[in-house]
Amino acid sequence: DSGTDLGVVAGLLRDVPDFPTPGIRFWDLSALLADGAGLAATTRLLAASAGAGEHAVDVVVGIEARGFLLGAAVAHALGVGVVAVRKQGKLPVVAARRSYELEYGSATLELPADVLRPGERALLVDDVLATGGTAAAASELVEGAGAEVAAISMVLELPALGGRARLGDRPVHTLLAR
Ligand code: AMP
Repeated sequence: DSGTDLGVVAGLLRDVPDFPTPGIRFWDLSALLADGAGLAATTRLLAASAGAGEHAVDVVVGIEARGFLLGAAVAHALGVGVVAVRKQGKLPVVAARRSYELEYGSATLELPADVLRPGERALLVDDVLATGGTAAAASELVEGAGAEVAAISMVLELPALGGRARLGDRPVHTLLAR
């Protein structure tokens, strides 16, 4: 059940002090993703947060880079496709780009051209909700294409960084908080 799944996920999360810069406590999902039961539990829990019936999603949007791994697994579980929102300079044909501030530095995300259709309901997937800047930028790209952010689902939330507040009234689901 979902309680068992949550326990599996929690048991496989690792935190690393002072990475990538001093003072940052970095949450590493490598061991979770590498574990078959861990990946399955994570995928089930994230897919369950998508909603069903008339609230079902049409597509998953995964955010570079760990959001690609999780997003593809969740999309497959839901029977929908996956769109990769990428860091600047990786996509040959770009629909739009968005720059934003990070917990450490700044970044630009790009949405591929001709993959999101107006009115589509998208589930945004990533690993960690920190300041929310990444998810906010990805949401704005999705909405700029005329699609709707049905929900934003992440494995881990760092509530002290206030990410939820940056995401407005978009539905946000996180499996665990640290
Ligand atoms: P933010 O835009 O601040 O919410 O940061 C979210 C993005 O940065 C996610 O893609 C995370 O993978 C990564 N990130 C930020 N802070 C951390 C952290 N403390 N541990 C692991 N990943 C993080």
